[in-house]
Amino acid sequence: MTVLTDRDLLRERCFLAGAWIEADSGERVAVTNPATGAVIAHVPRCAEAETERAIAAAQAAFPAWRARTAAQRSALLRRWFELIVENREDLAILMTLEQGKPLAEARGEIDYAASYVEWFAEEAKRLYGDVIPAPQADRRIVVVKEPVGVCAAITPWNFPAAMITRKVAPALAAGCVMIVKPAEQTPLSALALAVLAERAGIPAGVLSVVTGRARAIGAVLTASPVVRKLTFTGSTEIGRLLIAQSAGTVKRLSMELGGNAPFIVFDDADLDAAVAGALVSKYRNSGQTCVCSNRFLVQDGVYDRFAALLVEAVAGLTVGDGLDPATQQGPLIDAPAIAKVEDLVADAVASGARVAIGGQRHALGGTFFAPTVLTDVAPSMRVAVEEIFGPVAPLVRFTDEAEAVRMANDSDYGLAAYLFTRDAARVWRVGEALEYGMVGINTGLISTAVAPFGGVKQSGFGREGSKYGIEDYVEIKYLCMGGL
Ligand code: ADP
Repeated sequence: MTVLTDRDLLRERCFLAGAWIEADSGERVAVTNPATGAVIAHVPRCAEAETERAIAAAQAAFPAWRARTAAQRSALLRRWFELIVENREDLAILMTLEQGKPLAEARGEIDYAASYVEWFAEEAKRLYGDVIPAPQADRRIVVVKEPVGVCAAITPWNFPAAMITRKVAPALAAGCVMIVKPAEQTPLSALALAVLAERAGIPAGVLSVVTGRARAIGAVLTASPVVRKLTFTGSTEIGRLLIAQSAGTVKRLSMELGGNAPFIVFDDADLDAAVAGALVSKYRNSGQTCVCSNRFLVQDGVYDRFAALLVEAVAGLTVGDGLDPATQQGPLIDAPAIAKVEDLVADAVASGARVAIGGQRHALGGTFFAPTVLTDVAPSMRVAVEEIFGPVAPLVRFTDEAEAVRMANDSDYGLAAYLFTRDAARVWRVGEALEYGMVGINTGLISTAVAPFGGVKQSGFGREGSKYGIEDYVEIKYLCMGGL
């Protein structure tokens, strides 16, 4: 295995109540490198009992953590941010090893993950309340913001670091404490972040990381009346389940679920910019992001040219092990992921779509899929309806703007959308007509810690990052002062 500068960042234990523990059962789960299939580490297979203890530790840590001043919490978060930045290379290597993404993308994710910690270290100091003019002379109305309390985060494998910091940082900034259940495929990045949080001086119990049996851990977290909030990033299917499970304790929820992002190219678009935007929005992380373009809606006048330019660009992508500096496309996360992509492509081809490039497993074998462009795709084909989560670009043709908007909005999802046009009036018209939480206009890359990330419809609710992100972790309390 590639050597880390600081071997101590590779932890094979869970972080609970400030201690590094094994599962009570002694059972462990293997973590594998998707590029090679090799086992790189083992982590504890925790379940109900360990989760109960994490909740108790969080409950015990909460009063002292919320009682600290915002400036004190901010300073600790700042220190955590600095340690993440100092350990960028090791964190990136660990991520590529367990997730498969190219090392350059892993470094980019560590920077992105760190930026949430920096941002919320700053926002911690700006959690302002309000004074409202009272209708009676002898009263004063004051609004204060208080931390929600014990929070839980269940996170996915596609961004093993950033999906954790963008939940943990605002929670801790607001005075909440947090239990994280990372994805089973990528626990090492989560545990390494916990090592650095501990080194930063974040007190025991304020942040715990529990790896192991997702369903058992999720059931305890959602059933517990102590856990006041659950934040989840993952599939709409599991999101629905967690919403239902949380009903019994009426929990605060943030849900960042699946997407079916349309990428609309109008006749008047700058085609070179559109192709560059298509490459980053589709093929980043081998198509495994919830804001990845899932269907390209291309206007008649430029359809053939856009297709040709995209195929040319895709032909230049280098597929391989993420640790190889030349690699631009890593493997898919696991066998079910590649089976699903293969199935969607086969279904499209059987329904009349044409493979312009790729269309099958890559010669490297394993879970490598060849970067693919499909033309003659109909909007009703499964590949344009379901979330692909792989390096496949289906190209659908449209005639006019109204048809493009109708097709784009014809989805249960509403996370990200993209449009390329040089007409300023159309930018506003279409930008406002799209039923999506985020719209990239003449760009394929929209993620930043300073902007609100989140969706509408069955893509979920709540916003992460930006000045809005901390609101998901506070309660508004109204103090009515009478008899003055
Ligand atoms: P994906 O299909 O991308 O793996 P999932 O929604 O299945 O997305 O997984 C996202 C996160 O949800 C992971 O941490 C996973 O372990 C967790 N998860 C999956 N099933 C459950 C469940 N029944 N209860 C709680 N967490 C779950």
